[in-house]
Amino acid sequence: MGQLVTIDNNRNANADVPPVQHYQAYRPRPFTREQREETTILFGGLTWKHERLMQGALHNLKYKAEPLPNIARQDLDAGKELIDVGACCPTIFTTGSLVNFLKTEVKLHGKDDVNKKYVYLTAGACGPCRFGQYHESYAMALDGLGLKDFRLFLLAQDELDQGENGGGGLDINMPLSLGLIWSILCGDVITDMEYATRPYEVNPGQTDAVLKDCIEHMYTVFNQRPDHGKKLGTLAWHLTTNYFTKALREVRRKWDAIEVDRTRVKPRVKITGEFWLQTHEGEGNYNIKQWLEREDSEVVPPPVAVWLHYLMHPVIRKLEHRHSTSKYPKRDELLLQALERIYVATYNRFRKALGNIPNELPDQLELKNLAEPFYHFELRGGEGHMLIGKALYAYHHKKAHMICELSPYSCMPNTMSIGSMANVIGKYPDLLYAPIEVKGDAEVHALSRCQMILTEAKKRAQAEFEEVLRKTGITLAAIHEFEKHHPEVRRATYKVPHKGYSGTSTNYVLHLVQDLGMARA
Ligand code: SF4
Repeated sequence: MGQLVTIDNNRNANADVPPVQHYQAYRPRPFTREQREETTILFGGLTWKHERLMQGALHNLKYKAEPLPNIARQDLDAGKELIDVGACCPTIFTTGSLVNFLKTEVKLHGKDDVNKKYVYLTAGACGPCRFGQYHESYAMALDGLGLKDFRLFLLAQDELDQGENGGGGLDINMPLSLGLIWSILCGDVITDMEYATRPYEVNPGQTDAVLKDCIEHMYTVFNQRPDHGKKLGTLAWHLTTNYFTKALREVRRKWDAIEVDRTRVKPRVKITGEFWLQTHEGEGNYNIKQWLEREDSEVVPPPVAVWLHYLMHPVIRKLEHRHSTSKYPKRDELLLQALERIYVATYNRFRKALGNIPNELPDQLELKNLAEPFYHFELRGGEGHMLIGKALYAYHHKKAHMICELSPYSCMPNTMSIGSMANVIGKYPDLLYAPIEVKGDAEVHALSRCQMILTEAKKRAQAEFEEVLRKTGITLAAIHEFEKHHPEVRRATYKVPHKGYSGTSTNYVLHLVQDLGMARA
């Protein structure tokens, strides 16, 4: 919501020279400490699970907070009307979502009330892609709506303690930042459980019901998080407490009730792509994850935690190469490396509490090295080299049969990565890769493109399963008979180790034979 400010330059005393009009960037009106009780913080951009847990962390700190409604197709139209026509599809969708919410509220309560009642909190960064300019699009849309006085604030991704923001109503301190990060990590591991379970559930709908119950349980856990001060005390507590692992063990206990049939052969589809598009579950990406499950596959979802992990690495690389202005680069490098180890260890503690069913975080150095021949790690913007790295990681480690890369229309970083993937496919022609361009309004085209690669992935999943049955001499009937005597293997919380194949059912058969001693009938 920049504005033109007229400066009277009559010092020139030249009537022919028009007054100079300087551009001034949007600055929100203050959000004061006294307004906190009657002001609701709006936020969004992740899945409903992550957002509900984040809401718990915000309520815990006595903020009123509400996620925006899940993205819908009409948000695309609302966004297109009000912002730059060349904007990328995630910018259009997320701006449109805010616009539609505010339009409804204005109709109900009037502009003055909406300006008083709400502020919008969004992540921000400085970077070569439009992510660094989202707030400018929001500001432009607010201007178009006649809501110049509406307040939006940026939560920088790289600072845990940014202090009081624009009037003290919002204090971006350690308890807030750690609460939000921990809720994201918990949201990630539970989402991994969800996608590993639903395709194999015996009673349709049970996974979703248990999931809902677990998210509400975790909401309460975040809402009742104990207070340990604003600085180091709260940091130390988050890093050492078993408060969250205990809560996740309760999630695991609830999950135990779900019975699964892992002999259903399904291709595993690893979702990669632009951050917002790959994380989103809704019409912003044609509900592609649900569609893939309906098409009889198992989705490997992208955790937000990988992105947060990625953000640490450019700083570490700069310090390693002494391309930093730090006075003590070695010390800072060691500190950051220690922080990285603590971060991964925390994620692993959460995974362990859920029986190690959620996938491990990929090693960032390995992602960089895998991508190196095709995409330089210093090319930032979007997910940078990670798209190449993740595809090759899944391929080499046999984590998935195919990669579905969700690329937003009008996104420069993703266009570069798709170009580089042509080179990767030249070198690894058997890597099944489906780059899907998402415009928001070309669903049939996008899904049918995905379906072509998925057909091949299904054949591979079936072929490897039959190969293992043949080699082991085991039949499906024999497996079901074995399961009757070992009911624990049909629980959703039972961990099937990776046995070198991409498919869950293939690894399952090998595990029964090699580790549990199941013999030929
Ligand atoms: S990565 Fe692409 S889609 Fe995402 S914000 Fe940047 S330009 Fe837009």
